[in-house]
Amino acid sequence: MSSETTTSPRHRSLEELTAEARNLLAKLEPRRTSLTAKERLAIPPQEMPSQDPITRRGNMNEVALGYTAEQARVEAMRCLGCRNAPCVRGCPVRIRIPDFIAATAAGDFASAIRIIKENSLLPAVCGRVCPQETQCQKECTVGRSLKNVDKAVMIGRLERFVADWERENGLQKPPAVKPETGRKVAVVGSGPAGITCAADVRREGHAVTMFEALHKTGGVMVYGIPEFRLPKKIVENEISILSAMGVKIVTDFVVGRTRPLMDLMKKDGYNAVFVGSGAGLPKFMEIEGENLVGVFS
Ligand code: SF4
Repeated sequence: MSSETTTSPRHRSLEELTAEARNLLAKLEPRRTSLTAKERLAIPPQEMPSQDPITRRGNMNEVALGYTAEQARVEAMRCLGCRNAPCVRGCPVRIRIPDFIAATAAGDFASAIRIIKENSLLPAVCGRVCPQETQCQKECTVGRSLKNVDKAVMIGRLERFVADWERENGLQKPPAVKPETGRKVAVVGSGPAGITCAADVRREGHAVTMFEALHKTGGVMVYGIPEFRLPKKIVENEISILSAMGVKIVTDFVVGRTRPLMDLMKKDGYNAVFVGSGAGLPKFMEIEGENLVGVFS
């Protein structure tokens, strides 16, 4: 019989974390709406389940596995529902964070994702890769009260949970689009900026064409962030919502070479052009060996 270790002794499994959250939820649920601030501050931050280190060293799959429903509800109950909502000020797209968290705490995940989608078309992506610790979570009253940003309400993990819940349950719907205005907008670049712009402009009823220089859409999300951090299928899924809204996507088209930008406006009838071409070159650390095979930046 092999004596090889197959799990890491210090790693806490998904099952273990879920069981712990389930017990906590049973105690908290009856008093969910009447918990005091002190009681909420005493709820432990929920740990993100992850692949066992011994397993993950042999694959490139996503490391973080995402909260379970029990964990998400317990984590959401840590939120104080601050009237002034400093977390919203820290969010670049001003998601109604306390409202989506309150819906999550109540187990109303459909309302939670609907609230997020009022402002963001990329919740599964942003929940995974936004630097929440320098944005919404940095401002969170819970983190400030506990004098540790790592103990703030885990807003990003909750966003990821409800986005994944919606997708995995086949409940995704494209946002409503207003009646056609007859105006045309070109969006150059299909990274996060281009996608956000395309979605917002399309919602207003304008015709949108998104031009991508490379052969896949997603920009930095596809070409810059590795699979173990942000799976490509998550990006593809969120971009598919744009197509469902009626955004036309053109790949292998370099605006400025394939067609001059001014031709788009003067000859092709575009009323406006948004350029979101991104920062195409990586920043290297300039240390010996960083270009060797097997070294990931
Ligand atoms: S600042 Fe933190 S505790 Fe307050 S509403 Fe936002 S997430 Fe909740």
